[in-house]
Amino acid sequence: MELFELSLCEVRDLLRKGEVSAEAVTRSCLNRINATEPSVKALLGRRDEAALKQARAMDAARPADFSDKPLWGVPVTVKDVLTVKGMPTTAASKILEGFVPPYDAHVVEKLEQAGAIILGKNNMDEFAMGSTTEHSAYAATTNPWDVERVPGGSSGGSAASVAACQCFASLGSDTGGSIRQPASLCGCVGIKPTYGRVSRYGLLAYASSFDQVGPMTRTVEDAAAMLQVIAGHDRRDSTCSPVAVPDYNAAMTAQADLKGLKLGLPREFFGHEGLDAGVAAACQKAVDAARELGAEIVEVSLPHTEYSIASYYILAAAEASSNLARYDGVRYGHRTAAPKNLEDMYTSSRTEGFGPEVQRRILLGSYVLSAGYYDAYYRKAAQVRRLIRQDYLDALRQCDMLVAPVSPVPAWKIGEMGGDPLQMYFMDIFTLSLNLAGLPGLSVPVGMSGSLPVGIQLMGRAFDEGRLFLAGDKLTRVLGTHNQRAPM
Ligand code: GLN
Repeated sequence: MELFELSLCEVRDLLRKGEVSAEAVTRSCLNRINATEPSVKALLGRRDEAALKQARAMDAARPADFSDKPLWGVPVTVKDVLTVKGMPTTAASKILEGFVPPYDAHVVEKLEQAGAIILGKNNMDEFAMGSTTEHSAYAATTNPWDVERVPGGSSGGSAASVAACQCFASLGSDTGGSIRQPASLCGCVGIKPTYGRVSRYGLLAYASSFDQVGPMTRTVEDAAAMLQVIAGHDRRDSTCSPVAVPDYNAAMTAQADLKGLKLGLPREFFGHEGLDAGVAAACQKAVDAARELGAEIVEVSLPHTEYSIASYYILAAAEASSNLARYDGVRYGHRTAAPKNLEDMYTSSRTEGFGPEVQRRILLGSYVLSAGYYDAYYRKAAQVRRLIRQDYLDALRQCDMLVAPVSPVPAWKIGEMGGDPLQMYFMDIFTLSLNLAGLPGLSVPVGMSGSLPVGIQLMGRAFDEGRLFLAGDKLTRVLGTHNQRAPM
């Protein structure tokens, strides 16, 4: 077995014991990147030499005690929506071309303090708007299971990097499913933490009442190890919660089965008319496995599900139109070459800098916030959001967590939804509502539809990530999807 094929926890343990060097592990990943990147195109920026130099320096000064270096020597990547000091950060947009942030995101700081080695920045849909990673201004990432297909999005570069074993973990962001959906389409693990669990300081904002940063990995225990490092209070993000971070590994290993756990199946998700037969069958197998592990299965209802797409796309676009106002050609990135006047400088810089999907969201968002339409659209969508959250709170009183498909279909062909943004928005039907509710969701691989991976999501109460890890770990182990790698 090659080093890059190990899981994060496996390689971490070898590094601690001194059985492999940080340099050897880093080199293994860099070789793997060189071999896979021409077809996968998961990275927008790399720091090969700096990473090797860092690894060598770490080997030369091995700590005696690893308790405050839980990720010592582990190579990781991060989505290009997070700032890394000194590395270009573009959110896959032309408008930020050439922007080099002078500071690290909170989560990047945490990774570095824990001893992780950052190898590069992952491609994504521009400003995290999209579900395919085709809406990047730079390249379309491919799915390592079938390079003619999309990896999902918007954290498609992160998912592809992890599935192709370019790194042991990546950080993505999830506003409406962007961690869970690409994890599912690429056969890996991803968790969207509870709103407020992880600081967004240094995350380029898309829709601030939804955005959360979270890990993507090949095993559930790896995701737990990563979340352990990045979760927790940060005074630089006023929405970041002071709730204490539990020991996720202890929660994950608290029991050997799922006895005593009640899992709820949302009727509206499993009965969805667009649900692919292969996805439905893989989900059913996972539910059966949960029952055999001792879980009790009950049916629950999320009655306002059908309104989640409309509510989400109104609110997220509204917040995006406000957040993206800062890209004015003055402070960061691209400025038009020969503006006629100030007004033209703003308009032309933004017209040249933002791609079509981002422009669509800004227009839509400005429209629903405008004086004449605010009550009809923005206020209504906010009211619907509250009803959707209430659905989740009611359902989670009848069970400990919900189980559902992540995407109605497995990975589709690149270009397949090109002309029709609505068709792409409809693919988010199972993921958006959890962000509207602010609750945590863990996507784990459970099987295949044909030759393409399928994931399910486990959705829990606020700050109950530990229990999601418990269920996800048991399920992936019995289903044989623990440390699954794309066959490439
Ligand atoms: N596909 C959704 C959107 O385009 C979600 C994206 C995300 O979670 N960042 O808004």
